[in-house]
Amino acid sequence: MCKADYDMIVVGGGPGGYTAALYGARAGLSVLVLEMLSPGGQMATTENVDNYPGFPEGADGFELGEKMQQGAHRFGAVTRFEEVKALYLEQNPKRVETARGAYTAHTVVLSTGANPRRLAVPGEEALAGRGVAYCATCDGMYYRGKEVAVLGGGNSAAEEALYLSKICPKVYLVHRRDTLRAEKSSVQAMQRAGNIEFVWNATVEGFVTGGERGSLQALVLKSTQDGHTWQLACEGAFVAIGRVPNTALVAGKVHLDAQGYVAADETTRTSVPGVFAVGDVRTKAVRQIVTAAADGAVAAHFAQEFIEQHL
Ligand code: NAP
Repeated sequence: MCKADYDMIVVGGGPGGYTAALYGARAGLSVLVLEMLSPGGQMATTENVDNYPGFPEGADGFELGEKMQQGAHRFGAVTRFEEVKALYLEQNPKRVETARGAYTAHTVVLSTGANPRRLAVPGEEALAGRGVAYCATCDGMYYRGKEVAVLGGGNSAAEEALYLSKICPKVYLVHRRDTLRAEKSSVQAMQRAGNIEFVWNATVEGFVTGGERGSLQALVLKSTQDGHTWQLACEGAFVAIGRVPNTALVAGKVHLDAQGYVAADETTRTSVPGVFAVGDVRTKAVRQIVTAAADGAVAAHFAQEFIEQHL
């Protein structure tokens, strides 16, 4: 293998990326993390992370991101806040071009994450954290005891509705058709829950806000059958209409699965030798901080193995 600037370049500084950097650096690899905004990725936008072990009082997502970065830096990993513009993964060493320069590395860890698909309804962005949410496991606690709606008809929507049905007195499942995409067992579980009401053939047209904080009071729904609109009172709206993996950089370069995620099994190896995928961008069943971190450790192990075998 030819000389390279780094042993490992991590694209994206979320929990998966920084865990790969920590494990890689601890194993003696030279590691560069390229992050566009701030450490922590999607986690940094979560006010209270209650489901990452070791924090009995919960953790601020932004601070947790910074701590993960500091942990990796302690062993020599470095971060540059540069947006990656292009990846050349087939060649050795691999080449990563950013808005400011270019770097080479023997291995690349893709940690670019996935974002919840937005409804794209006016007002949605401003209501994030004040009525509109994208993850019941993360934010459901804030709506305990309140009436909420889940938007979507797939397995994610079913999971969100079932989770919320345990802490909220009433959950509306609002779907644009009259049949669900979710698996039969989940549909049956929702029917058994007793406090989940299905609202069929409806889409969200707008939000009604009020109170001191201008938080959500009701959804404006529109019938997909005759176009009439009405209001559905609720204090929380959980959007579960699919996710959009951030794979624009690697489309056509590594194999993606049918949903557009980077195809990689539990070894995190992608279709390109020396390229690994960790966290939400990877094919997987459970997308959480803790599973992203686990991926990072695994990727560093196999990156190290790749370097040993090829150097
Ligand atoms: P999904 O299966 O693609 O379902 C998205 C749902 O949102 C669909 O019901 C769709 O309606 C609706 N939708 C999409 N865009 C919309 C829009 N703009 N406005 C209103 N509704 C919209 O997504 P997902 O539920 O996130 O699941 C993604 C994948 O992960 C699936 O393969 C799923 O099986 C898998 N998953 C598995 C599990 C599990 O096995 N435990 C859990 C979660 C997710 P239509 O039905 O009309 O298209």
